Amino acid sequence: MLHKAILLILDGLGDRPIPELGHLTPLEKATAPNLDRLAREGICGLMSVLGPGFVPGSDVAHLTIFGYDIHNYYAGRGPIEAVGLGLQLAGGDVALRGNLSTVDDDLTILDRRAGGITDVSGLVRDLDGLEIDGVRFIVRPGTAHRAAVIMRGQGLSAAITDPDSHFDSPKACDPEPTDHSPEAKFTAEVVSKFIARSHEILARSPINTDRKARGLLPANFMLLRGAGKHNNLPSFEEKYGLKACGIAGAGLYKGLATYAGMTLIDVPGATGLEDTDVRAKFTAALRCLETFDFVFVHVKATDSLSHDGNYEGKAAFIEKIDAAAEILLNRPDGVLLVVTGDHTTSCTRRNHTADPVPILMHAPHGDSLRVDQVTAFGERPCQQGGLGKILGIDVMPEVMTLLNRSRMIGT
Ligand code: ZN
Ligand code: ZN
Repeated sequence: MLHKAILLILDGLGDRPIPELGHLTPLEKATAPNLDRLAREGICGLMSVLGPGFVPGSDVAHLTIFGYDIHNYYAGRGPIEAVGLGLQLAGGDVALRGNLSTVDDDLTILDRRAGGITDVSGLVRDLDGLEIDGVRFIVRPGTAHRAAVIMRGQGLSAAITDPDSHFDSPKACDPEPTDHSPEAKFTAEVVSKFIARSHEILARSPINTDRKARGLLPANFMLLRGAGKHNNLPSFEEKYGLKACGIAGAGLYKGLATYAGMTLIDVPGATGLEDTDVRAKFTAALRCLETFDFVFVHVKATDSLSHDGNYEGKAAFIEKIDAAAEILLNRPDGVLLVVTGDHTTSCTRRNHTADPVPILMHAPHGDSLRVDQVTAFGERPCQQGGLGKILGIDVMPEVMTLLNRSRMIGT
Protein backbone atom coordinates (compact mmCIF):
# COMPACT_ATOMS: atom_id res chain seq x y z
CA MET A 1 0.00 0.00 0.00
CA LEU A 2 1.24 3.50 -0.81
CA HIS A 3 2.18 5.40 2.32
CA LYS A 4 4.97 7.80 1.30
CA ALA A 5 5.59 10.08 -1.66
CA ILE A 6 8.32 11.81 -3.64
CA LEU A 7 7.36 14.98 -5.51
CA LEU A 8 9.88 15.79 -8.24
CA ILE A 9 9.46 19.23 -9.75
CA LEU A 10 11.46 19.95 -12.88
CA ASP A 11 11.29 23.73 -13.07
CA GLY A 12 9.77 25.15 -16.24
CA LEU A 13 9.51 21.63 -17.69
CA GLY A 14 6.62 22.35 -20.03
CA ASP A 15 7.26 23.96 -23.41
CA ARG A 16 5.68 24.68 -26.77
CA PRO A 17 6.48 22.88 -30.04
CA ILE A 18 9.68 24.21 -31.55
CA PRO A 19 10.05 24.30 -35.36
CA GLU A 20 13.79 23.50 -35.17
CA LEU A 21 12.97 20.35 -33.17
CA GLY A 22 10.57 19.12 -35.82
CA HIS A 23 7.67 20.78 -33.98
CA LEU A 24 8.33 18.73 -30.86
CA THR A 25 8.83 20.20 -27.39
CA PRO A 26 12.20 19.62 -25.67
CA LEU A 27 10.55 17.00 -23.43
CA GLU A 28 9.02 15.24 -26.43
CA LYS A 29 12.32 15.47 -28.31
CA ALA A 30 14.48 14.14 -25.48
CA THR A 31 15.28 10.43 -25.47
CA ALA A 32 13.93 9.65 -22.02
CA PRO A 33 13.24 5.93 -21.59
CA ASN A 34 12.95 6.08 -17.79
CA LEU A 35 10.48 8.99 -17.75
CA ASP A 36 8.55 7.24 -20.52
CA ARG A 37 8.45 4.05 -18.46
CA LEU A 38 7.15 6.00 -15.45
CA ALA A 39 4.43 7.47 -17.68
CA ARG A 40 3.61 4.06 -19.18
CA GLU A 41 3.31 2.35 -15.80
CA GLY A 42 1.65 5.33 -14.13
CA ILE A 43 -1.21 7.73 -14.56
CA CYS A 44 -0.69 10.97 -16.49
CA GLY A 45 -2.36 14.28 -17.12
CA LEU A 46 -1.88 17.97 -17.63
CA MET A 47 -1.71 20.45 -14.80
CA SER A 48 -2.72 24.07 -15.19
CA VAL A 49 -0.99 25.43 -12.11
CA LEU A 50 -3.10 28.54 -11.50
CA GLY A 51 -5.82 27.94 -14.10
CA PRO A 52 -6.08 29.01 -17.73
CA GLY A 53 -4.61 32.41 -18.54
CA PHE A 54 -2.57 32.82 -15.37
CA VAL A 55 1.19 32.79 -15.83
CA PRO A 56 2.81 31.41 -12.68
CA GLY A 57 6.01 32.58 -11.08
CA SER A 58 8.01 29.74 -9.56
CA ASP A 59 7.29 30.77 -5.97
CA VAL A 60 3.53 31.05 -6.41
CA ALA A 61 3.50 27.83 -8.46
CA HIS A 62 5.30 25.81 -5.78
CA LEU A 63 3.16 27.10 -2.92
CA THR A 64 0.07 26.22 -4.97
CA ILE A 65 1.31 22.71 -5.76
CA PHE A 66 2.13 22.27 -2.05
CA GLY A 67 -1.54 23.09 -1.48
CA TYR A 68 -1.30 26.62 -0.04
CA ASP A 69 -3.82 29.21 -1.16
CA ILE A 70 -1.58 32.00 -2.41
CA HIS A 71 -4.19 34.64 -1.64
CA ASN A 72 -3.67 33.88 2.03
CA TYR A 73 -0.06 32.83 2.12
CA TYR A 74 1.99 34.58 -0.55
CA ALA A 75 3.98 37.53 0.74
CA GLY A 76 6.44 38.19 -2.07
CA ARG A 77 9.58 36.42 -3.11
CA GLY A 78 12.02 38.26 -0.90
CA PRO A 79 11.12 36.48 2.36
CA ILE A 80 11.14 33.07 0.65
CA GLU A 81 14.64 33.58 -0.76
CA ALA A 82 15.88 34.87 2.57
CA VAL A 83 14.65 31.92 4.65
CA GLY A 84 16.09 29.59 2.01
CA LEU A 85 19.52 31.04 2.66
CA GLY A 86 19.11 30.25 6.33
CA LEU A 87 18.29 33.82 7.38
CA GLN A 88 15.78 34.33 10.17
CA LEU A 89 13.22 37.03 9.59
CA ALA A 90 12.13 39.04 12.61
CA GLY A 91 8.71 40.71 12.83
CA GLY A 92 8.91 44.05 11.03
CA ASP A 93 11.74 43.02 8.71
CA VAL A 94 11.28 43.52 5.00
CA ALA A 95 13.08 41.08 2.72
CA LEU A 96 13.90 41.61 -0.95
CA ARG A 97 15.36 39.46 -3.64
CA GLY A 98 18.54 40.75 -5.24
CA ASN A 99 20.24 40.19 -8.58
CA LEU A 100 23.76 41.38 -9.25
CA SER A 101 23.72 42.88 -12.72
CA THR A 102 25.74 45.12 -15.02
CA VAL A 103 24.75 48.74 -15.78
CA ASP A 104 26.53 51.47 -17.74
CA ASP A 105 27.08 55.06 -16.57
CA ASP A 106 23.46 55.98 -17.42
CA LEU A 107 22.17 53.06 -15.33
CA THR A 108 21.04 51.27 -18.48
CA ILE A 109 20.99 47.55 -17.73
CA LEU A 110 23.52 45.79 -19.96
CA ASP A 111 23.21 42.33 -18.44
CA ARG A 112 20.73 41.23 -15.80
CA ARG A 113 23.04 38.46 -14.60
CA ALA A 114 26.36 40.33 -14.79
CA GLY A 115 27.80 38.17 -17.55
CA GLY A 116 26.73 34.93 -15.89
CA ILE A 117 28.66 35.54 -12.66
CA THR A 118 28.70 32.35 -10.62
CA ASP A 119 29.70 33.64 -7.18
CA VAL A 120 28.80 37.00 -5.65
CA SER A 121 29.85 36.27 -2.09
CA GLY A 122 32.90 38.59 -2.18
CA LEU A 123 30.87 41.43 -3.65
CA VAL A 124 27.89 41.26 -1.30
CA ARG A 125 30.15 41.08 1.74
CA ASP A 126 30.86 44.80 1.19
CA LEU A 127 27.14 45.58 1.31
CA ASP A 128 26.28 43.47 4.34
CA GLY A 129 25.70 45.57 7.45
CA LEU A 130 25.19 48.89 5.65
CA GLU A 131 23.14 51.25 7.75
CA ILE A 132 20.90 53.88 6.10
CA ASP A 133 18.56 56.20 8.06
CA GLY A 134 18.53 53.77 10.97
CA VAL A 135 17.80 50.72 8.79
CA ARG A 136 20.33 47.92 8.75
CA PHE A 137 20.80 45.89 5.56
CA ILE A 138 21.63 42.21 5.91
CA VAL A 139 22.87 40.88 2.57
CA ARG A 140 23.70 37.27 1.75
CA PRO A 141 24.84 35.63 -1.50
CA GLY A 142 22.45 33.26 -3.23
CA THR A 143 22.94 30.97 -6.22
CA ALA A 144 25.00 32.47 -9.07
CA HIS A 145 24.06 36.18 -9.52
CA ARG A 146 21.44 36.15 -6.77
CA ALA A 147 21.38 37.59 -3.28
CA ALA A 148 18.93 38.06 -0.44
CA VAL A 149 18.51 41.41 1.28
CA ILE A 150 16.83 41.96 4.64
CA MET A 151 15.99 45.44 5.91
CA ARG A 152 15.81 45.64 9.68
CA GLY A 153 14.61 48.75 11.49
CA GLN A 154 11.61 50.73 12.65
CA GLY A 155 8.67 51.75 10.45
CA LEU A 156 9.28 49.58 7.39
CA SER A 157 6.63 48.51 4.88
CA ALA A 158 6.57 46.02 2.00
CA ALA A 159 4.21 48.29 0.05
CA ILE A 160 6.73 49.42 -2.58
CA THR A 161 7.03 48.77 -6.30
CA ASP A 162 9.85 46.59 -7.59
CA PRO A 163 12.92 48.71 -8.18
CA ASP A 164 13.79 46.05 -10.74
CA SER A 165 11.30 46.58 -13.52
CA HIS A 166 12.35 43.23 -14.97
CA PHE A 167 11.77 43.20 -18.73
CA ASP A 168 9.71 46.36 -19.01
CA SER A 169 12.52 48.87 -19.01
CA PRO A 170 16.19 48.77 -19.96
CA LYS A 171 16.92 51.23 -17.15
CA ALA A 172 17.31 50.60 -13.48
CA CYS A 173 14.72 52.57 -11.52
CA ASP A 174 13.83 53.56 -7.96
CA PRO A 175 10.93 52.03 -6.04
CA GLU A 176 7.71 53.94 -5.38
CA PRO A 177 5.37 53.52 -2.43
CA THR A 178 2.17 51.66 -3.36
CA ASP A 179 0.07 53.08 -0.56
CA HIS A 180 -0.11 56.43 1.22
CA SER A 181 1.44 55.32 4.50
CA PRO A 182 4.52 57.11 5.83
CA GLU A 183 6.13 53.66 6.24
CA ALA A 184 5.86 52.89 2.51
CA LYS A 185 7.27 56.32 1.62
CA PHE A 186 10.13 55.90 4.08
CA THR A 187 10.92 52.36 2.88
CA ALA A 188 10.97 53.43 -0.78
CA GLU A 189 13.38 56.27 0.09
CA VAL A 190 15.70 54.01 2.07
CA VAL A 191 15.75 51.37 -0.68
CA SER A 192 16.59 54.08 -3.26
CA LYS A 193 19.49 55.21 -1.08
CA PHE A 194 20.66 51.61 -0.69
CA ILE A 195 20.59 51.09 -4.45
CA ALA A 196 22.71 54.21 -5.04
CA ARG A 197 25.11 53.43 -2.20
CA SER A 198 25.55 49.79 -3.22
CA HIS A 199 26.21 50.84 -6.82
CA GLU A 200 29.04 53.11 -5.65
CA ILE A 201 30.53 50.34 -3.52
CA LEU A 202 30.21 47.64 -6.18
CA ALA A 203 31.56 49.87 -8.95
CA ARG A 204 34.84 50.37 -7.12
CA SER A 205 35.21 46.82 -5.84
CA PRO A 206 38.59 45.23 -6.68
CA ILE A 207 36.64 42.11 -7.70
CA ASN A 208 35.03 44.11 -10.49
CA THR A 209 38.32 45.73 -11.48
CA ASP A 210 39.68 42.23 -11.84
CA ARG A 211 36.62 41.06 -13.82
CA LYS A 212 36.99 43.96 -16.25
CA ALA A 213 40.72 43.20 -16.69
CA ARG A 214 39.74 39.65 -17.65
CA GLY A 215 37.21 40.92 -20.20
CA LEU A 216 34.21 40.04 -17.98
CA LEU A 217 31.26 42.30 -17.24
CA PRO A 218 31.42 43.98 -13.81
CA ALA A 219 28.67 43.04 -11.33
CA ASN A 220 28.13 46.67 -10.42
CA PHE A 221 24.43 47.01 -9.64
CA MET A 222 21.92 45.36 -7.34
CA LEU A 223 18.50 44.88 -8.92
CA LEU A 224 15.90 44.37 -6.18
CA ARG A 225 12.39 42.97 -6.24
CA GLY A 226 9.79 40.97 -4.33
CA ALA A 227 9.61 43.04 -1.12
CA GLY A 228 7.69 41.18 1.55
CA LYS A 229 7.28 40.46 5.24
CA HIS A 230 7.28 36.96 6.66
CA ASN A 231 3.90 35.28 6.57
CA ASN A 232 3.33 32.45 9.02
CA LEU A 233 1.69 29.49 7.37
CA PRO A 234 0.80 26.04 8.67
CA SER A 235 3.63 23.62 8.08
CA PHE A 236 3.32 20.77 5.62
CA GLU A 237 3.19 18.35 8.54
CA GLU A 238 0.38 20.29 10.27
CA LYS A 239 -1.53 20.43 7.00
CA TYR A 240 -1.14 16.83 5.83
CA GLY A 241 0.28 14.84 8.74
CA LEU A 242 3.26 14.03 6.55
CA LYS A 243 6.79 14.57 7.82
CA ALA A 244 8.35 16.38 4.87
CA CYS A 245 11.79 17.35 3.64
CA GLY A 246 13.10 19.28 0.66
CA ILE A 247 16.10 18.83 -1.63
CA ALA A 248 17.05 21.74 -3.87
CA GLY A 249 20.11 23.52 -5.18
CA ALA A 250 18.79 27.02 -5.85
CA GLY A 251 18.02 29.41 -3.01
CA LEU A 252 14.40 30.16 -3.86
CA TYR A 253 13.43 26.48 -3.69
CA LYS A 254 15.27 25.90 -0.45
CA GLY A 255 13.31 28.89 0.72
CA LEU A 256 10.00 27.47 -0.48
CA ALA A 257 10.68 24.18 1.29
CA THR A 258 11.67 26.00 4.49
CA TYR A 259 8.67 28.30 4.16
CA ALA A 260 6.37 25.26 4.07
CA GLY A 261 8.05 23.89 7.18
CA MET A 262 9.96 21.12 5.40
CA THR A 263 13.37 20.05 6.69
CA LEU A 264 16.08 21.13 4.26
CA ILE A 265 18.44 18.37 3.20
CA ASP A 266 21.80 19.57 1.97
CA VAL A 267 23.11 17.51 -0.94
CA PRO A 268 26.70 18.12 -2.06
CA GLY A 269 26.75 18.76 -5.80
CA ALA A 270 23.19 20.16 -5.91
CA THR A 271 23.98 23.50 -7.53
CA GLY A 272 20.69 24.66 -9.03
CA LEU A 273 22.61 24.93 -12.31
CA GLU A 274 23.05 22.76 -15.40
CA ASP A 275 26.04 21.00 -13.80
CA THR A 276 23.96 19.89 -10.80
CA ASP A 277 24.41 16.33 -9.57
CA VAL A 278 20.92 14.97 -10.26
CA ARG A 279 21.96 11.44 -9.28
CA ALA A 280 23.11 12.66 -5.88
CA LYS A 281 19.77 14.40 -5.36
CA PHE A 282 17.75 11.32 -6.25
CA THR A 283 19.96 9.08 -4.13
CA ALA A 284 19.48 11.47 -1.21
CA ALA A 285 15.72 11.43 -1.80
CA LEU A 286 15.64 7.64 -1.35
CA ARG A 287 17.72 7.95 1.82
CA CYS A 288 15.29 10.57 3.16
CA LEU A 289 12.42 8.08 2.84
CA GLU A 290 13.86 6.27 5.85
CA THR A 291 13.04 9.31 8.02
CA PHE A 292 10.41 11.28 6.12
CA ASP A 293 6.98 10.56 4.61
CA PHE A 294 7.20 13.16 1.88
CA VAL A 295 10.26 14.24 -0.11
CA PHE A 296 10.18 17.28 -2.36
CA VAL A 297 12.98 17.33 -4.94
CA HIS A 298 13.57 20.34 -7.13
CA VAL A 299 15.67 20.58 -10.31
CA LYS A 300 16.17 24.07 -11.69
CA ALA A 301 18.09 24.12 -14.97
CA THR A 302 15.16 23.08 -17.21
CA ASP A 303 13.81 26.58 -16.50
CA SER A 304 17.09 28.50 -16.80
CA LEU A 305 17.88 26.89 -20.17
CA SER A 306 14.39 27.84 -21.40
CA HIS A 307 14.93 31.47 -20.36
CA ASP A 308 18.12 31.35 -22.43
CA GLY A 309 16.13 30.03 -25.41
CA ASN A 310 18.39 26.96 -25.39
CA TYR A 311 15.93 24.25 -26.46
CA GLU A 312 18.68 21.79 -27.38
CA GLY A 313 20.30 22.28 -23.97
CA LYS A 314 16.89 21.79 -22.32
CA ALA A 315 16.34 18.50 -24.18
CA ALA A 316 19.87 17.35 -23.28
CA PHE A 317 19.35 18.28 -19.62
CA ILE A 318 16.07 16.33 -19.57
CA GLU A 319 18.08 13.34 -20.86
CA LYS A 320 20.49 13.82 -17.95
CA ILE A 321 17.54 13.80 -15.51
CA ASP A 322 16.13 10.76 -17.26
CA ALA A 323 19.35 8.80 -16.85
CA ALA A 324 19.31 9.56 -13.13
CA ALA A 325 15.60 8.67 -12.88
CA GLU A 326 16.64 5.03 -12.93
CA ILE A 327 17.41 5.58 -9.22
CA LEU A 328 13.80 6.62 -8.59
CA LEU A 329 12.47 3.62 -10.49
CA ASN A 330 14.27 1.45 -7.96
CA ARG A 331 12.75 3.07 -4.90
CA PRO A 332 11.20 0.96 -2.14
CA ASP A 333 7.64 -0.35 -2.40
CA GLY A 334 4.88 1.81 -1.01
CA VAL A 335 6.30 5.08 -2.33
CA LEU A 336 4.30 7.17 -4.77
CA LEU A 337 6.36 9.20 -7.26
CA VAL A 338 4.98 12.39 -8.80
CA VAL A 339 6.91 14.07 -11.62
CA THR A 340 5.84 17.42 -13.02
CA GLY A 341 6.91 21.00 -13.68
CA ASP A 342 5.88 24.14 -11.82
CA HIS A 343 4.90 25.89 -15.07
CA THR A 344 5.71 26.02 -18.75
CA THR A 345 8.76 28.04 -19.73
CA SER A 346 8.72 28.52 -23.48
CA CYS A 347 12.16 28.44 -25.12
CA THR A 348 10.86 30.56 -28.00
CA ARG A 349 9.24 33.16 -25.72
CA ARG A 350 12.09 32.82 -23.24
CA ASN A 351 9.64 33.21 -20.41
CA HIS A 352 6.91 31.49 -18.42
CA THR A 353 3.58 30.96 -20.12
CA ALA A 354 0.16 29.84 -18.90
CA ASP A 355 0.25 26.55 -20.88
CA PRO A 356 -0.40 23.50 -18.68
CA VAL A 357 2.44 21.13 -17.79
CA PRO A 358 2.65 17.34 -17.99
CA ILE A 359 2.28 15.44 -14.75
CA LEU A 360 2.69 11.75 -13.94
CA MET A 361 2.02 9.69 -10.84
CA HIS A 362 3.73 6.33 -10.56
CA ALA A 363 3.42 3.54 -8.02
CA PRO A 364 5.61 0.42 -7.78
CA HIS A 365 3.75 -2.51 -9.41
CA GLY A 366 0.91 -0.12 -10.27
CA ASP A 367 -0.18 -0.20 -6.59
CA SER A 368 -3.76 1.26 -6.43
CA LEU A 369 -3.26 3.26 -9.62
CA ARG A 370 -5.79 3.33 -12.45
CA VAL A 371 -3.02 3.06 -15.04
CA ASP A 372 -3.94 4.75 -18.33
CA GLN A 373 -2.95 4.36 -22.00
CA VAL A 374 -0.17 6.99 -22.03
CA THR A 375 3.17 5.50 -23.11
CA ALA A 376 5.47 8.54 -23.16
CA PHE A 377 6.07 11.54 -20.90
CA GLY A 378 5.37 14.63 -22.97
CA GLU A 379 3.03 17.55 -23.34
CA ARG A 380 0.89 15.91 -26.00
CA PRO A 381 0.96 12.28 -24.81
CA CYS A 382 -0.19 13.51 -21.37
CA GLN A 383 -3.30 15.10 -22.94
CA GLN A 384 -4.64 11.54 -23.15
CA GLY A 385 -3.94 10.65 -19.52
CA GLY A 386 -6.26 9.38 -16.82
CA LEU A 387 -5.61 12.30 -14.49
CA GLY A 388 -7.15 14.57 -17.11
CA LYS A 389 -6.58 18.26 -16.63
CA ILE A 390 -6.06 19.32 -13.06
CA LEU A 391 -5.10 22.52 -11.26
CA GLY A 392 -1.94 22.95 -9.23
CA ILE A 393 -4.02 23.09 -6.05
CA ASP A 394 -5.40 19.61 -6.93
CA VAL A 395 -2.01 17.86 -6.81
CA MET A 396 -1.81 17.30 -3.05
CA PRO A 397 -5.44 16.14 -2.77
CA GLU A 398 -4.67 13.58 -5.52
CA VAL A 399 -1.56 12.50 -3.60
CA MET A 400 -3.53 12.26 -0.35
CA THR A 401 -6.15 10.12 -2.09
CA LEU A 402 -3.51 7.68 -3.33
CA LEU A 403 -1.93 7.60 0.14
CA ASN A 404 -5.39 6.77 1.56
CA ARG A 405 -5.36 9.89 3.67
CA SER A 406 -8.33 11.75 2.22
CA ARG A 407 -11.22 12.57 4.51
CA MET A 408 -14.78 11.46 3.79
CA ILE A 409 -17.42 14.14 3.49
CA GLY A 410 -20.84 13.14 4.80
CA THR A 411 -21.58 9.70 6.15
ZN1 ZN B 1 9.67 27.71 -11.94
ZN1 ZN C 1 11.70 30.81 -14.80
